[in-house]
Amino acid sequence: MADAGTGTHEPISGGCLCKAVKYSIAFPQGHWPPKKNNICHCTQCRKATGALMAHIFTVTPSQITWTCEDRSFREYSSSTGVFRGFCQTCGSTLSWRNTKTPAEIDIFSGTLDEDVLIGGDGETGRKILMTDRQFWCENLVPGVTDGAKSRFMYKTNAEGGVLREVA
Ligand SMILES: [Zn+2]
Ligand SMILES: [Zn+2]
Repeated sequence: MADAGTGTHEPISGGCLCKAVKYSIAFPQGHWPPKKNNICHCTQCRKATGALMAHIFTVTPSQITWTCEDRSFREYSSSTGVFRGFCQTCGSTLSWRNTKTPAEIDIFSGTLDEDVLIGGDGETGRKILMTDRQFWCENLVPGVTDGAKSRFMYKTNAEGGVLREVA
């Protein structure tokens, strides 16, 4: 974590399952690696993605260039001021943002292109996926979703109190 957000990196790409929505994320000096890398166990992320746990990383909206065919990118307001971006053609969940924190947007890491996640020597993927925090750990499924590694584990969200800190 010591080198979080101090370097630079070539742009990385991702998109939805049907490829109607694509994005490129730039990392100008001071933006690599992403400052926040989280796993969320909340019921909303489970419902939105269909997965038991969702890995997300945080960037600034200005780092992202979206490319979208046929206006496929839509947003669903899942809570007051919270918008979940998805492709209305294939249903992939792509992003999460809160109007209270306009300088941040979360990208669901599973939408990154395969070569970003596991290509090369694996270093790019590792830097993005090295999880710092897990949220909504009161929703952990014992023996199933409680095995992920991270430094901090929050009971609910970041305001919900640290359940455990691993040195
Ligand atoms: Zn799609
Ligand atoms: Zn969540």
